Amino acid sequence: MPTAGEKRHHQVLIIGGGNAGVSLAGRLLRYHVKDVAVVEPRSRHLYQPLFSHIAGGTADAFEAVRLQSAVMPKGVVWIQDKATDVSTGSSTVLLESGSAITYDHLVVCPGIQNDWTSIPGLKEAMEGPYGGSNYEYELAPKAWKLFKDLKRGTVVFTQPPGPASCDGAAQKPMYLACDHWRRQGVLGDIRVVLAVSTPTIFGMDIIDEELNRKIDEYGIEVRYSTELASVDPSGRTVELTDTATGASETIAYDVLHAVPPQSAPEWLKTTDLPAPGNHGGFVEVDPLILRHPRFPAIWSLGDAACTLNSKSGAALRMQTKVLAKNLKAVLKGKKPTAQYNQYSACPFVVSKNTVVFSEFDDKYAPMPTVPGWDNLARERRLTFIAERVLLPKVYWNLILRGRA
Ligand SMILES: Cc1cc2nc3c(=O)[nH]c(=O)nc-3n(C[C@H](O)[C@H](O)[C@H](O)COP(=O)(O)OP(=O)(O)OC[C@H]3O[C@@H](n4cnc5c(N)ncnc54)[C@H](O)[C@@H]3O)c2cc1C
Repeated sequence: MPTAGEKRHHQVLIIGGGNAGVSLAGRLLRYHVKDVAVVEPRSRHLYQPLFSHIAGGTADAFEAVRLQSAVMPKGVVWIQDKATDVSTGSSTVLLESGSAITYDHLVVCPGIQNDWTSIPGLKEAMEGPYGGSNYEYELAPKAWKLFKDLKRGTVVFTQPPGPASCDGAAQKPMYLACDHWRRQGVLGDIRVVLAVSTPTIFGMDIIDEELNRKIDEYGIEVRYSTELASVDPSGRTVELTDTATGASETIAYDVLHAVPPQSAPEWLKTTDLPAPGNHGGFVEVDPLILRHPRFPAIWSLGDAACTLNSKSGAALRMQTKVLAKNLKAVLKGKKPTAQYNQYSACPFVVSKNTVVFSEFDDKYAPMPTVPGWDNLARERRLTFIAERVLLPKVYWNLILRGRA
């Protein structure tokens, strides 16, 4: 770790050692880029897609975590520190410790931020005994405990508006909990309410058809175009607002499973990197090439990038390949020609052994892995096995090493 005041230089410096940063570093090494460093403050690496399974009782918490030192590709320099600013003029990243690191090329991928305090009472409700969420590692096992112990009452699930990491993931613990309650014979005694900010459940016909069938099967009450306005944690009520009519509704809950509004990391919003007019503070990039249009030494991908796709690990897996190829080309004095195809995906876990697998482009038009074959979008056991069993292995062993 560089000490305070020490100055260092790297050919490629990456801010954020999450899904995007580590897999990109691994891929760049494979492409023989020798001097790659990653700035990452956390000593543990989290595989977020498993959080939904932890909250829904189909995974243990330990499965989603590894030591950061164990996932950092050999040959990459890990700087355990936090970026606090980027000076585009002097090609320098400032760190919380006081160090400054210069770069030839900078890749900015510090992810997205959970804004728990942006809704009155929400943070307090999550800290209290009746709140849980799959959007925080610590709150996911708590959510499962609340679901597991419940025999009757009302459970409210919320999915926020605005940018989100894999926004459909808000619904996954709900389907898993409903399946659990049905198997326990108590589903009829539990009222399940879901508030989604959108006018439909997802926005793609075939996926909406599958999810609506499960919603009917489980007897879930969906409030469309509805947002969480506030929570009263001591009275255990939520206030929901229908954004189409302006009407508000107060619902008493026994358990609240909430997903927070999300935005770009606070420090990033005040740098030169977001687009003029800000666009939520995410890093401005050419959505095809993934290079900053005003600062050619800067690149971005993953949840922190202002790309057009729905943010997900599936999307950034494609982005990693494109960015690595383009950066390699530029380092060799060539033009960057690889283009991101706007693919994204969200595997909706709809029961303890089935998934509805949505694959789509930036306009939510279907983009199936096998072109012309939309069968994976139907509820299937095969896609559950792929998502729950195979994908975590692929993530730890191949994706993070830049090999998939
Ligand atoms: C509950 C949940 C379920 C999901 N399910 C799926 C799914 O089923 N399928 C799918 O494809 N995607 C899913 N996703 C989305 C996927 O996990 C994200 O898209 C992906 O992790 C984004 O990768 P990233 O590297 O951009 O951000 P992250 O993986 O969040 O990594 C960002 C890293 O940057 C670090 N960092 C933050 N600030 C700084 C700083 N100032 N300086 C240096 N480092 C910093 C953080 O510590 C972190 O390690 C899910 C997400 C969530 C939350």
